[in-house]
Order: sequence, then C-alpha cells, then structure tokens
Amino acid sequence: MSFTLSPDHEALRSAVREFAEAEIAPHAEEWDRDHHFPVHIVQEMGDLGLIGAIFDEEYGGGGGDFTSLCVAIEEVGRVDQSMGITLEAAVGLGINPIAEYGTPEQKAKWLPDLVAGRTMAAFGLTEPGGGSDAAGAIRTKAELDGDEWVINGSKAFITNSGTDITSVITAAALTDDDEISMIMVPAGNPGLTVEPGYNKLGWHASDTHGLVFEDCRVPADNLLGERGQGFHQFLATLDDGRIAIAALAVGLTQACLEQALEYAGTRQAFGRPVGSNQGIAFQLADLDVALESSRLLTYKAAALKDAGMPIKHAAARAKLHATETAVSATRVLTQVLGGYGFIEGGPATRFYRDAKILEIGEGTSEIQRLVLARGLGLPVL
Ligand SMILES: Cc1cc2nc3c(=O)[nH]c(=O)nc-3n(C[C@H](O)[C@H](O)[C@H](O)COP(=O)(O)OP(=O)(O)OC[C@H]3O[C@@H](n4cnc5c(N)ncnc54)[C@H](O)[C@@H]3O)c2cc1C
Repeated sequence: MSFTLSPDHEALRSAVREFAEAEIAPHAEEWDRDHHFPVHIVQEMGDLGLIGAIFDEEYGGGGGDFTSLCVAIEEVGRVDQSMGITLEAAVGLGINPIAEYGTPEQKAKWLPDLVAGRTMAAFGLTEPGGGSDAAGAIRTKAELDGDEWVINGSKAFITNSGTDITSVITAAALTDDDEISMIMVPAGNPGLTVEPGYNKLGWHASDTHGLVFEDCRVPADNLLGERGQGFHQFLATLDDGRIAIAALAVGLTQACLEQALEYAGTRQAFGRPVGSNQGIAFQLADLDVALESSRLLTYKAAALKDAGMPIKHAAARAKLHATETAVSATRVLTQVLGGYGFIEGGPATRFYRDAKILEIGEGTSEIQRLVLARGLGLPVL
C-alpha cells in the first residue's frame, strides 16, 4: 500500500502547477467577470498533454492512468474551477464515452482532434425534466428512418456544448419505449439548436447551454457502440466523472487552505495575527484534516480505477466528501478574510460562487448518499 503519488505523478503536478499559475491564474478573475470562455487554454491543455493524458497513444494520447488526470484537474482547479471543469468535462464527459464505447471508425474520426484539444465533445444526458433520475426523465427520442436517426427533444445544462471548437455532442435518447442509446450529433448539424449560455451562479468562464433537437437527422452509424446500451454507458461515464469532480474539489479546498493560511498569518487584529486566535487556527486545522481525507478518498478511488477494480462506492464516497468539504472550505476562507472575503476582485468570492455546483453536477450529494446507502445493502428508495 502506498500513500504517496509516484515520481511521475509528482512531476506532472509540478508541470501543471507551473502552467496553471502562469497561464490561467493571472486571468481567472477577468474571465470570471466577463463570462469569457478562453478557448486557447483548451488548446494549451491539449498541447501539454493534459486532455489526452489517459487516452491511447494510437489517437495521440499519453497512455497514462486516471490518477494522472486527477492530478491535472486538481492543479487546474486550484487556480480556476471554470478551467478545471472545462478539462474534466472535455475528458470525462466528452472524450471518455467515445474512447470507451465508440466503434473503431468513430474513434478514428473523432478522437485525434479531441485528444489534442483542437476540438471538444460534450455529453448530453440531463433534460429540462430531470437529471438525478436521468433514465426516467429522458424524453428525447431517436427514431430510425432508413439509414438515419431522427432526433427530437431537448437537453439542459450541457457543458462544453457551445464553444467555437465543440465538434460533437453525445446525447442520450430513447430509441424504443424502454431503450436508451447514446447518439453522436455533430456540432452545427441541421436540427440542432444550441441555446444561449446560462447566467450561472459560478463557473462563469465555463461553457454551458441547453440544446434542442428538432427533426435532427444523423447517420445511423452515429449510434455510440451498441443500441440499447445507453443506460450502462452513462452510469459508467458518471462513476468515472465523480472521481474527477472530487479531484476538482480537492484543488479548490487546497487553494482555500493556502489562502486562508497566508492571510491568517499576516492580517493583524488586537496587535497580533488573526491566525494566533484559536477560533481561526482551529478552523484551519480542521480544514487540513478534511482536505487530507478528501485527497485520500479521491486518489484511492482513482487507484481502484487504475487497477480495474469496482469504483462505484469509492467514487461516490470521494465525490460526496470532497465536494462538501470544498463548499465548507470556501466558507472558512471567506470568514478568515473578513470583509475582504465579501468583495469581488479576489479569488475568495469566485471560489465561494464556484463551489456550490460541485455538490450538484454529475450526481448531487443526495444521489451520492443514495448510491452509498444502497451499496451498504439498505433498501433505500
Ligand atoms: C453548470 C452545470 C453543468 C452541467 N453539465 C452537465 C453536462 O455536461 N451534461 C449533463 O448531462 N448534465 C450536466 N449538468 C446537469 C447536472 O448533472 C444535474 O443538474 C444534476 O444531476 C441534478 O439534476 P437536476 O438539476 O435535474 O436536479 P433534480 O434531479 O431535479 O433534483 C432536485 C433536487 O432533488 C434531489 N433529489 C432528486 N432525487 C432524489 C432522491 N431520490 N433522493 C433524495 N434527493 C433527491 C436532488 O439531489 C436535488 O437536490 C450540469 C448542471 C449544471 C448546473
């Protein structure tokens, strides 16, 4: 048993930290304020090999493990959660299902550009009628008409679906009454409308849109993998994604602890640093413990994934703990900063706004508890 990352993972961490601090951190406030999606960062993350880290070398990937992806997401997320989720969704939701379930022809067609960061893919599961009960809420239908699927329906909150470099959206659709399949819809396909971006509480520099399919026709070959496998495909995609979201949350908690420590050591009140008060110091001590437990749960889940072992329970544990810890961490940082923590322009307010979605996306905290309770054998509904 090892509780440390390998020298290769640590080297990757250093390289990503250097990149994130030089290329992302100085601009994060501006992108957040302007709701600007910096497409060049995606391309730089592609050039650095972060987007392709876990994919086959045959498609231009690095052939690395899932732990490497988590390290990269943690480090990008430490400076900017919007770019962290952009990376996480590009890989976990965009490329992963195609790499896992695509036919050789689909992989050859889409993966090289996606893996290089020249294009991005999105994953359309959630609908306006529901996300937690994704299977039960799917109303989007795809009917075969000759050698084409005709898709009708809509999707809500789809990350990376409307960028200038989005090339394909993999959408869940009913292909029969009780049959869910995933179908790949190229960006710009007639019958696909990308709605204007949402005005979100946080993740301002991340790209999120609703999608509408109206008699949207794509070739029958655009079925991802096998017909009727959509439920299995999206559940497995989400299990992986939950570990990656946990890594994003670890990055945020790490940033909050670092910034709170720095401020608590320098800000003076009553003639001494505010961190010399137990009321402040003990909050940071507790945060240190919570961060370490988030990190251990996250990298344990990633290690299980890399070992080819079952991950459902471990991914839910990691996601639940790491995301709830990140939300608490932003509250602690804001409190330690006092009035300055409430003023826009520094990272604290951005972190505070960005944190909440971690408890919602890719399965809410309630859904993680449901998965965990069921895993414990409880007959919970
Ligand atoms: C910024 C953003 C980006 C997103 N990106 C994507 C994306 O790229 N692709 C995609 O497909 N989706 C995406 N989503 C959707 C996200 O995954 C869903 O919002 C999430 O799964 C919750 O679904 P919902 O919003 O429909 O809430 P609902 O399912 O309507 O849930 C509402 C509330 O009820 C609770 N609840 C529901 N069922 C139960 C239960 N059985 N027991 C206890 N409590 C329950 C939930 O936990 C929640 O608190 C994104 C969402 C956002 C906001």
